[in-house]
Amino acid sequence: MTTTVAFIGLGHMGGPMAANLVSAGYRVLGHDLVESCLSAAVAAGVEAARSAAEAAAVADVVITMLPAGRHVLSLYGPEGLLAAARPGTLFVDCSTIDVADSRAAHAAAEAAGHRSLDAPVSGGVVGAEAGTLTFMAGGEESAFAQAEPLLAVMGKKAVHCGDAGAGQAAKICNNMILGVSMIAVSEAFVLAESLGLSDQALYDVASAASGQCWALTVNCPVPGPVPASPANRDYRPGFAAPLMAKDLQLAANALRASGIDAELGLRAAELYARFAEGPGADQDFSGIVRAIRAATSNPTDTQKGSTT
Ligand code: NAD
Repeated sequence: MTTTVAFIGLGHMGGPMAANLVSAGYRVLGHDLVESCLSAAVAAGVEAARSAAEAAAVADVVITMLPAGRHVLSLYGPEGLLAAARPGTLFVDCSTIDVADSRAAHAAAEAAGHRSLDAPVSGGVVGAEAGTLTFMAGGEESAFAQAEPLLAVMGKKAVHCGDAGAGQAAKICNNMILGVSMIAVSEAFVLAESLGLSDQALYDVASAASGQCWALTVNCPVPGPVPASPANRDYRPGFAAPLMAKDLQLAANALRASGIDAELGLRAAELYARFAEGPGADQDFSGIVRAIRAATSNPTDTQKGSTT
């Protein structure tokens, strides 16, 4: 019997993910508050549901791909998806949300007699379209096993990270490493420039030495050394700075809740929040190098994050 999937949230990520499930032969009922998102999904073979609850009521698996934890919890809430679904339905939340919100969503699903998985992704819109996302999952082993065939359609790798919330935890820890390392790499390039060292010379040394990391060798924040990096196309994303700012805010929330003295993680969240609200609003997150350089050439601009 064909598995029926309810897919709620058909935006930049959810739209192509749902389309890939249709292409793989799944029956997908979709819902989004934005009409253009819904109609694009319908053009890809998704059946339009009048409400999220209507889709959940007939589904074996309910996938959510929403902006934030409040959207997930409100849809799971009274009179929502959990109440509408048949007992034992599998709920898979692929949104990137707070670990605490994710655990609350798991608890609500379990209390309503359902199974659940948090399964945030990395790979961006390109990965969603190509079906090459990486999923980081948290929840019971049996829930992960049930979701695996669907995750294999939408992605190239799925890692079961542990219990409820473990997927979200893996996602924010990884992105905290990435945010901090991008700032470190960017500061090093700006320092090198001021010391008269060329970008290429620093790259040639650091990429073959202990400074080597993804922020340097794949997403290099200066144009030249890595031709495919966003720096070579005026910092068009890539991984947009507002998404990095969001993920670092989630990491900062978890750091504070855990009482961890992580000065770099908290500082990275502040720097990316400021960059994303200003010049980085539509830039790749590696564009933060320009804010650092601009603040350096005029130290009074340090607090402004200017890129001019
Ligand atoms: P998006 O804003 O394009 O899509 C979210 C969709 O959810 C929107 O179309 C919105 O209308 C819909 N929505 C909100 N509330 C709803 C409701 N109550 N009922 C039905 N639909 C509702 O966002 P996105 O870029 O697709 O990201 C989705 C999630 O994936 C976010 O949590 C984001 O952090 C995460 N993510 C995004 C990327 C990326 O590159 N865009 C990468 C990794 C993870």
